Amino acid sequence: MRTIRSVAELRRALAEARGPDRHIGFVPTMGYLHQGHMALVENSQARCDATVVSIFVNPTQFGLTEDLTTYPRDFIRDEQLCREAGVDVLFAPEVRDVYPPQFDTFVEPGAPAQPLCGPFRPGHFRGVATVVCKLFNMVQPDVAFFGQKDLQQCAVVRRMTFDLNLPIDIVTVPTVREPDGLAMSSRNRYLSAPERKRALAISRGLLAAETAFREGERDPARLLSLVRPPLEALDELQYLEIVDAETLKPATNPLSRPVAICAAGYVGSTRLIDNVMLDPDAARR
Ligand code: AMP
Repeated sequence: MRTIRSVAELRRALAEARGPDRHIGFVPTMGYLHQGHMALVENSQARCDATVVSIFVNPTQFGLTEDLTTYPRDFIRDEQLCREAGVDVLFAPEVRDVYPPQFDTFVEPGAPAQPLCGPFRPGHFRGVATVVCKLFNMVQPDVAFFGQKDLQQCAVVRRMTFDLNLPIDIVTVPTVREPDGLAMSSRNRYLSAPERKRALAISRGLLAAETAFREGERDPARLLSLVRPPLEALDELQYLEIVDAETLKPATNPLSRPVAICAAGYVGSTRLIDNVMLDPDAARR
């Protein structure tokens, strides 16, 4: 595995890896890697001939009061995990190279950035779209892999990729959970032991609705009423919504297209998000 810091070196390394019928897979991350990230790597390795992982804690997607400076980092461990997993290139650019002093161009995402996390994290998806677009231009992958846990991010990236004619397939990989159901996240390390227990409320509620859906429940209000009681354990619930999985617009009643139940809230000072996808067609098959 090659660890690369500069865009020029990345281009040289990937020029060698590219070729007819050779596909480059790309997994963008902010590091502090866990099994959720590694599932994206495995998907890339199954589909592509070379896999590039990026680690970049992107300042433009953090709000002024958010955790940019305290975001967990362990580059040595991340590098080891990537090497053991057989990643080909680990790309870890410096902030000053991604955002040089005169940097002044942003990608402004449209409708998919508006609901759910949009009002609670102003500017977040603009930062995400901008950095993903820049990383896409640096790596020029054939396929890029994103986690379902960040469903709205997937929707923003898909829309941007289509709207800007980027020749990249976007693949969404199912959420990887801890054995007790908690969605894996780098931010889980902020949780104290009692908070970790209360954090389970989100996945418990969502998985209860998923079970009811599998047993035939198609009324969105009744599905949400199963998620709500466990969420009382959170210190703050920011949203709980059932939306069209593709457009993120409110779901119809009864559910007829793939939808997602999405929730976000705080346990102590840690913000958690999670979702489950429900597909009426898949359930009928
Ligand atoms: P992050 O480092 O948090 O920016 O995440 C990098 C990528 O990993 C994003 O595409 C996330 O959606 C994905 N990811 C994070 N957590 C999980 C998880 N538990 N399961 C699957 N993918 C995940």
